[in-house]
Amino acid sequence: MSPLPPRPKPDPKAPRQSLPLLDPELREGSPAEVALGFTEEQARAEALRCLRCQKPTCIDACPLNIDIKRFILRMVEGDYAGAHDVISEQSPFPGVCGRVCQHELFCEDACIVGRRWDPVAIGSLERFAADHARLRMRELAGGDPACPSGPKVALVGSGPASLIAAFDLARKNYRVTIFEALHELGGVLAYGIPGFRLPREILNEEIARLRSLGVQFVTSFVVGKSATLDELFDEGFAAVFIGTGAGLPYLLNIPGENLIGVYTANEFLTRLNLMEAYRFPERPTPVHVGRQTVVVGGGNSAMDAARWARRMGSETTILYRRGRAELKARLEEIEHAEDEGIRFEFLAAPVALCGNHDGFVTSIECIRMELGDPDESGRRSPVPVPGSTFRIPAETVVAAIGQAPNPTLQKATPGLHTRRGKIVIDEQGQTSLHRVFAGGDVVRGGSTVILAMKDGRAAATAIHRALSPNGGNHHESRP
Ligand code: FAD
Repeated sequence: MSPLPPRPKPDPKAPRQSLPLLDPELREGSPAEVALGFTEEQARAEALRCLRCQKPTCIDACPLNIDIKRFILRMVEGDYAGAHDVISEQSPFPGVCGRVCQHELFCEDACIVGRRWDPVAIGSLERFAADHARLRMRELAGGDPACPSGPKVALVGSGPASLIAAFDLARKNYRVTIFEALHELGGVLAYGIPGFRLPREILNEEIARLRSLGVQFVTSFVVGKSATLDELFDEGFAAVFIGTGAGLPYLLNIPGENLIGVYTANEFLTRLNLMEAYRFPERPTPVHVGRQTVVVGGGNSAMDAARWARRMGSETTILYRRGRAELKARLEEIEHAEDEGIRFEFLAAPVALCGNHDGFVTSIECIRMELGDPDESGRRSPVPVPGSTFRIPAETVVAAIGQAPNPTLQKATPGLHTRRGKIVIDEQGQTSLHRVFAGGDVVRGGSTVILAMKDGRAAATAIHRALSPNGGNHHESRP
């Protein structure tokens, strides 16, 4: 056998590669993906920027502990399938996470290269490995599904928390069923995050891999209404995980909120993403987007709603009570929103919505803010500047100011402890009820995809421990 060619030396000083983007003119009216992914040449060049640290801090910083150093090394060698295999040891969702995870808060924040230069673009490399493996993975997913034979576990909700729990439990031979209230799978990944950030086929292909592990899905099934938790246990489920997310939007609580043309981001995005209102009347669900839209908020939902409004041809303003540095959305989405011509009105908050005789919203009255002392989150709190009100014309207003857990299941489940609407869990991820676990946004409030996955993984470990007679060793041999 001929010896392997020597690996090229790391080159951290080389400039970080930028993601090729869809031309802004082609984005109108369309969910076409904006970030196009690295070319092979870019992926190789970016992979070479990794220092291959002795103690890679990026791995500890990844809530799923993906072996980032090893997968990037595979990419340096041109072994993209191998890179994908390394990621898949920990996560079956590299196409999703490579696109929507806030890498700048986790692995890329910890990247040693970032101490002197720009950090390695770990997220874009993860995405490249995933996209490269698509064909091979489609073939694998098309084979006969596995038939697990262990105890039955019910997962409520099909967001990232439940999806990773299903992956971990199915690999340990549990018979997993996911119950989802909506007709589509994926939670926020399907109804909240637009296709121009996360194409549906990428999400569906990665979910299909769970089917091949034997995971069952039941859609249009609201636990707490279609069946209670007790009824699931009566059906033979040995444990339940609640990953129902935070789908109850906060309202602005200002005069005029009932005017026509005022939406919560949740409704606005569900209409456009899940019901494809951008294709109305070909699709039955409409959405009213006027000539001017104001979106209130500074997180991912606000960027997504504003970018959809822009795609629907509306002049769009994001109204945020703090400054640009405090925006909570992914950096990439903020930059894309700016590229797309969205205007930002910083340090301003809404005080009233004004309408016409027909009940349609026509403008939004705002007040200037200044930043005062830090609040409990450590961020400086916005304080209104007296006498500084002003108006912005708006035929559509979208409130994107955060979400709380939907209370349906909690209300139908006596003895399930909650605090301020969030389900309370112990350090094992267990709720106040025996063999009922919870994680993700229903526990944390609005959070991130990767932290929801971290919780789902922790709960799967705890469920395995709870259901194993020997406290966590494999039970494959159980009858
Ligand atoms: P969810 O994803 O909310 O899924 C919960 C699921 O449970 C839903 O499908 C719901 O229909 C279902 N459900 C609820 N009640 C029941 C019931 N009683 N019975 C059955 N099913 C039920 N994070 C990032 O890291 N990056 C981003 O780019 C990003 N963008 C975002 C954009 C938007 C618009 C929003 C709203 C959030 C975004 N987030 C982002 C946050 C991230 O999506 C969430 O933190 C994450 O999805 C939470 O996952 P989860 O599994 O806890 O719940």
